[in-house]
Amino acid sequence: MEYRRLGKSGLKLSALSFGSWVTFKNQIDTQLAEQCIGTAYDAGVNFFDNAETYANGDSELIMGKALRNLGFSRDSFCVSSKVFFGSHTHPKPTQHGLSHKHILEACHQALQRLQVDYLDLYFCHRPDPETPVEETVRAMHALVQQGKVLYWGTSEWSAEEIGAAHRVARELYLTPPAMEQPQYNLFVRERVEQEYAPLYRDYGMGTTIWSPLASGVLTGKYSRGIPKDSRLNLPGYEWLKERLQSEDGRRRVVAVEQLTVIARELGMSPTQLALAWCLKNPHVSSVILGASRVEQLRENLGALAQVPKLTSEVMLRLATAAN
Ligand code: NDP
Repeated sequence: MEYRRLGKSGLKLSALSFGSWVTFKNQIDTQLAEQCIGTAYDAGVNFFDNAETYANGDSELIMGKALRNLGFSRDSFCVSSKVFFGSHTHPKPTQHGLSHKHILEACHQALQRLQVDYLDLYFCHRPDPETPVEETVRAMHALVQQGKVLYWGTSEWSAEEIGAAHRVARELYLTPPAMEQPQYNLFVRERVEQEYAPLYRDYGMGTTIWSPLASGVLTGKYSRGIPKDSRLNLPGYEWLKERLQSEDGRRRVVAVEQLTVIARELGMSPTQLALAWCLKNPHVSSVILGASRVEQLRENLGALAQVPKLTSEVMLRLATAAN
């Protein structure tokens, strides 16, 4: 495993990490979670990603039980949560958003469900236009001061919004965000590569990137229709299926066929190619893997060994094929 600093911070995250969106509860029970987390940990993964909203809190419950059963030393791994969306089962006005109250409550709930004393990383899952950024920064700073959170960050905030959080933190001597969690893959590049460039330079921010396989599309599995057992057939994820069947989605499936040809030439799977491509970006601190089965995870963990094959000439070919 390779370890990368989370931006300018001293925290070293595994370049490949493991997340639970969609999968935990819907496809993965506690026993399988234990197998997946154990497989990842044995391969050197030290960061496990979660959020209050995933399976309405059940994803954190499952991860908490699995981590407890596995019994890893707490100082050997990092675990995250995210606050903003709340859960469908708790829809009251104080139960979502980035108010000081919800940030504090959601943190306490995540700690209980995950069965840990502190969150290594805690993300504001989306910007909240109805809460002043100063209130959010103060709430996160308070959690850091209390030792309940070590590093706080944002997810899918604009560079302007993140810059505003940094300016408030600097003016008021509060803890600034250390990382962003954006989508990044061969199809979604602009934000990480262009918009956020000043954030790496000016604030030393790190990124933990999501959907590196564009929800599985980059594996090539959708070239011949939608497999029955894939996430696109899960109730509640019809929007993902609709996205795949849109004009842009169909264009992506065709692009993956070209990417697959290049992957085969290089002696790797299209999945590994797509993940290795993400790893090539030095501003990516960790690529968060998603997997609904242990075999998928094993294949994905093999991506790291393929990175040296992605020469600048190959990178150019990939960019052309994905475009
Ligand atoms: P991916 O884009 O990598 O998609 C993962 C899915 O692709 C798997 O669940 C599986 O779906 C399929 N897949 C993975 N590997 C293989 C393989 N080797 N062969 C065939 N199919 C494969 O990542 P996610 O979208 O899951 O995102 C990763 C993590 O990022 C999440 O778990 C979460 O922690 C985080 N995230 C954060 C967001 C945010 O807003 N901050 C938003 C979304 C995710 P299937 O079951 O269909 O086979």
